[in-house]
Parts: sequence; structure tokens; C-alpha cells
Amino acid sequence: MSRSRSTRERRADLSLSAAVDRPGPPPSAADGVWLTCVACGETFPPFEAVRYRCEACDGLLEVRYASPAGVDDFEGEPGVWRYRAALPVDAGVSLPEGDTPLHRMPRLRDEVGVGRLRVKHEGMNPTGSFKDRGMTVGVRVAQRVGVDRLACASTGNTSAALAAYGARGGMETLVLLPAGKVAAGKVAQASLHGARILEVDGNFDDCLDVVQRLTDRGAAYLLNSLNPFRLEGQKTIGFEILETLLDDHGEPPDRIVLPAGNAGNTAALYKAFRELVAAGSLARADVPRLTPVQAAGAAPLVEAVEADRDAVRRWPEVETRATAIRIGNPVNAPKALPGVRETGGTAVAVSDDAITRAQRDLAGEGVGVEPASAASLAGLRELRERGVVDAGESVVLLTTGHLLKDPDAAARAGTEPEPVPADVDGVLDVL
Ligand SMILES: *Cc1c(COP(=O)(O)O)cnc(C)c1O
Ligand SMILES: [Zn+2]
Repeated sequence: MSRSRSTRERRADLSLSAAVDRPGPPPSAADGVWLTCVACGETFPPFEAVRYRCEACDGLLEVRYASPAGVDDFEGEPGVWRYRAALPVDAGVSLPEGDTPLHRMPRLRDEVGVGRLRVKHEGMNPTGSFKDRGMTVGVRVAQRVGVDRLACASTGNTSAALAAYGARGGMETLVLLPAGKVAAGKVAQASLHGARILEVDGNFDDCLDVVQRLTDRGAAYLLNSLNPFRLEGQKTIGFEILETLLDDHGEPPDRIVLPAGNAGNTAALYKAFRELVAAGSLARADVPRLTPVQAAGAAPLVEAVEADRDAVRRWPEVETRATAIRIGNPVNAPKALPGVRETGGTAVAVSDDAITRAQRDLAGEGVGVEPASAASLAGLRELRERGVVDAGESVVLLTTGHLLKDPDAAARAGTEPEPVPADVDGVLDVL
């Protein structure tokens, strides 16, 4: 308890609300919703034109609300749309999504040595990853701005989610994938849901460069996490974690550890908690420390955090078996880095072997995740060993995608099948 109090005091100085408080609503803000450039503060109406970046400075855009919603405004069935008061549209193209389990992990808690350990398993969303939370909002906004062809670059899960939500909305979908670097389950999903799949001879970052140019020319509506509306849906992960833990034992977690690729989720969680602080639902000192984890072969965000820099340097070559986070140019870094810093968090890189071990250990407690998701546990372990995370902490790991997304990785990490004869004595002999 004393540790936790000193943590609170230390964080009481943080200027979490700066980004929310600054410019007020522009005169054109219909329904109290607008877009603000996080770099220069320029504001834009949300739905009048298709716009992914600031027209003045090319900075990232963020959705802002005249009155951010607090927990008392959340109502209705569990799931993303319970949080409609905190979202820019009232209803989405829905399958439905959210309301994922927050598992207790008593054996791993004792082995890692923390006070509390929970796993928020986002692999339990309709298409098997958290991307669904962003798509339910983003696809609805595409309809509202009047574009009926959707596009994304993807390491796999974004394309699976876009294909399913596009299909649900009766819209055409186009996905650009790095050839040979997407897990089998994800390609199968995009394919069966009817996306047009373009395999690019390049990595994810190259795919994103191309799709941005395509969508800038009006060929389709961009639904990568560069699109600020997607992050609004992903904010609801933070709301769910908070509501569940407040119901359970009345306290938010000390820390959330999550895999990071483009750092959209890191940015979205930061925004969720900032808005709850602005609404008076959460004390600044109680905002969880955001702790993104990357694979050692694709860790530009970790590099920037360690060097205390405000921008990332693009890694031209990236490699990891956690293909969902095989990203060298995290587009949301300008939104995520302040979140890591202002919440008192950190970032850490882990080896592929540590990721595979963590994937096995989560599965050993019944929770099946894909490799990128297991980076969260591997990162927590590393930070415990370094003494950065202390023994009393209450930690939530975010596991972003389901085990079946990457059946090849699961089979390699798991036990080998043993050949047996087709009779019971022969089987008993082997046992
Ligand atoms: C997209 C994805 C990530 C990376 O999330 P960001 O928001 O881009 O950091 C991590 N894990 C899985 C399984 C994903 O699909
Ligand atoms: Zn700008």
C-alpha cells in the first residue's frame, strides 16, 4: 500500500490534460465533435471532407469533444457501443465487438512476481483481434462521409477486420499485404470475407506508403490506425479494463503492458484515460503506466523512449516471428510517446525466443494468443528482472490477437504429435 501511495504522489504532477484542454471547440464544431492536429493545433470539422492528416502541417489528427464522457455516461449492454457517449458516432457497423474477458492469471502472477496479474484477451473479438473495435467506428464514418470503397495496409489483422466489417456494411474492400509475411489465418479471413488482396513486394511500411497515396487520390477510404476514428473505437479497451477492475476491487491497474506496432493502441489507451481525467472519472495519479513492448528486430519506438526522443527513426529493415508487430515506422508515435512519458511508463524490446516462451506459458494457463500478443508477457518478465516493475504492482497484459490467427507459429511452439498404432495396447505402450 505504501508503494502505491508514493506512486500516486509522484504522478500527481503530470500534465495529462494539456492536450485535451488546449484549443476549445472551433465555431464549426457540429455536435461538439471536431478534429485537432496534435502537432500544430489546427482544427477541422469531422465529417465534411475526407481528411487523414492536418492540411496545414501534415500532422496527425485527433478527435476532440466539447465535453469528454465519463464513466457515469456509459450505459447499455457491454461492448464497444456501451461507450457511445465517448465516440464520434452513435452506432456502428457491428458484429458486435468488445466485451472481451479480463482473465485472472494466478500461476503466472506468482511466477512473474507481481501483486495482481490480469490478461485482457482481445483475441476474443469477432475476427480475433482488437482491430474490430476500431473498424466498427471507422467503417461507419466511411459511410457517413460517403465513401463506399475501403482500403488498408496490414500485417494481417487489420485486413481481416476490414474485410469482415466491409462485408457487413456491404462495401468493397481492398487490402495491401507484405508478400509472404502474413500469418495464414489472417489471409484466409480477408480472402473469405471477400477483400481484394494485393500482395506487395515490400514490408508493411512500404504497403502503408502506397495505400496512403492511393487514398489521398480518393481511390478509397483509408482505415489504418492513421485514421483518427479507428483509435476512438480502440479507446474502449481502456474503458472496459477500468470498469471491470473498479467493479472488482475498486482500483485501476498500476500498469498496462501491451505489444506495439504502429502504436495505435498505446495512443488510444492514453486518450481514453486523458478523457476520463478530463471528465472527472479518474484521478491523474491513478492513470495506469503505459508500457508498450516491441520485438527486438522491430523496435523503433523502444529506441525513441530509451533516448527520450519525441520522434522515432524509421527502421528500414525489420524482422520478427511476431508478424503483427513487424513494423519499422510506427505512424502513431507522435501520439503514443507523450502517453508513455506522461503516465510514467516505459517501453521494452524482447527476443523472439522470449515471445515464444511467453506464448507457451499463456497457453499453459488456457489463454491462446498469437506471437505478437505474447510480447506483452515477455516484456513484463524483462521489466521485472530489471527491477523496473516492482513486486506489488497490479498489471494488465493486453493480448491483441487469437492463437488461431497464426496456426504455424502455434504448432511450432507447441508439442509434437506422436505417431501411435490404431489399437489400445499400442497407445498404452506409448503412454
Ligand atoms: C495490430 C496489432 C498489433 C499492433 O498494434 P498497434 O496499435 O499498431 O501498436 C499488435 N498485435 C496484434 C495481434 C495486432 O493485430
Ligand atoms: Zn497541423
